[in-house]
Amino acid sequence: MRFKFDEKLQSIFQEVLHRNPGEIEFHQAVREVLETLGPVLAKYPEFTDKKIIQRICEPERQIIFRVPWRDDNGEIQINRAFRVEFNSALGPYKGGLRFHPSVNLGIVKFLGFEQVFKNALTGLPIGGGKGGSDFDPKGKTDSEIESFCQSMMLELYRHLGEYTDVPAGDIGVGCRELGYLFGQYKRITNRYESGVLTGKGLGWGGSRARKEATGYGVVIFTQEMLRARGDSLEGKKVVVSGSGNVAIYAIEKAHELGANVIACSDSGGFIIDEAGIELPLVQQIKEVERRRISAYVELKKSSRYIEGSSVWSVPCDVALPCATQNELTGRDAKILVENGCLAVAEGANMPTTSEGIQIFQDADICFGPGKAANAGGVATSALEMQQNASRDSWSSEYTQKRLQEIMIDIHTSCYETAGEFGEEGNYVLGANVAGFIRVARAMTAMGVI
Ligand code: GLU
Repeated sequence: MRFKFDEKLQSIFQEVLHRNPGEIEFHQAVREVLETLGPVLAKYPEFTDKKIIQRICEPERQIIFRVPWRDDNGEIQINRAFRVEFNSALGPYKGGLRFHPSVNLGIVKFLGFEQVFKNALTGLPIGGGKGGSDFDPKGKTDSEIESFCQSMMLELYRHLGEYTDVPAGDIGVGCRELGYLFGQYKRITNRYESGVLTGKGLGWGGSRARKEATGYGVVIFTQEMLRARGDSLEGKKVVVSGSGNVAIYAIEKAHELGANVIACSDSGGFIIDEAGIELPLVQQIKEVERRRISAYVELKKSSRYIEGSSVWSVPCDVALPCATQNELTGRDAKILVENGCLAVAEGANMPTTSEGIQIFQDADICFGPGKAANAGGVATSALEMQQNASRDSWSSEYTQKRLQEIMIDIHTSCYETAGEFGEEGNYVLGANVAGFIRVARAMTAMGVI
């Protein structure tokens, strides 16, 4: 059940709509948080007096700039890049960079807004921010990627710093792109400032388990949700959307915990392999060859590729949306519920539409929102910052142990917070409220800044 949208919050939301016209994903992200904060304001009137909600909905700083670069034919290309520094009450702005043709200010603001609460939930000292560009990496050569990254950093560097703003990867930005970005930052500033970017390569300041962390974390969170209901992942049928970095390591961890992942997808369609998705094949296709997931059926004859339709039509016990925003609609949610799905955890940011979330909650299935379920990635980025600050490098075992503890703590804090507000099992409310309270307290302590 959802709380009635509190009148005061409704009017703040109207103001957000008015001030940020046309930014539909940002509106959606703000609405989903504000809808759950009524009981918090009733309990802590000081947050209303200090106008914490109004302040939290307004980014501290928004940077938009032109990125000109030359392609392999010598032709000049122009892209637009963004960095939205949303909130620094808990630490330096922290959040990834996304390279995708769909990137615009509204998308970066929704991602930055969600990041504030997600980062707060990790319990680590990181504020929230996000950035990216409408640059499309698809079909670009290595040297074109390099030219674009260098040009982007030529402006971005002046806004960054290990105590100021620390980007990482997101869709379309991985270790290769971060390498070009870091190299250019180092060259411009003449500083080997490891802590200015996370998700770096293991040979040059990166953290072990960072690459795996988001996917692993989603599955650990799912396991905790099932455990809270006396169940586990053992023997469960899992469907994952996407086949990028988050999806790949979610598949790996799900298999490790005894589940069977039978389907995954990309924007063109999905594959079904009832015997269990063979991860080395997906990695070869996506990470090495950078091809479409349809290539899987060439390598494994017993599998099937279905073009153009939704992966959520495949019956499963557990659904892990790990592709992109609003990929799981109300219609998909209905099908999942009808097929007996028990748990959904968001590996991507805001992959489920508001209607979809409502359907899952009405059906009383476990639903782990991205702010909580996919926080393992950014949490391990914060662990990378710790290692960089102490010029240390931790073992994979130790880093994974820390990740596991953090995910279990996030689950506990969402679960307990939901219970405290009379909404046991409502992880949407638990995540929003627990994250919000931590940021709101810090903002209150720091005065009107
Ligand atoms: N882009 C990731 C996220 O959505 C990771 C951000 C980071 O590591 O800073 O949380």
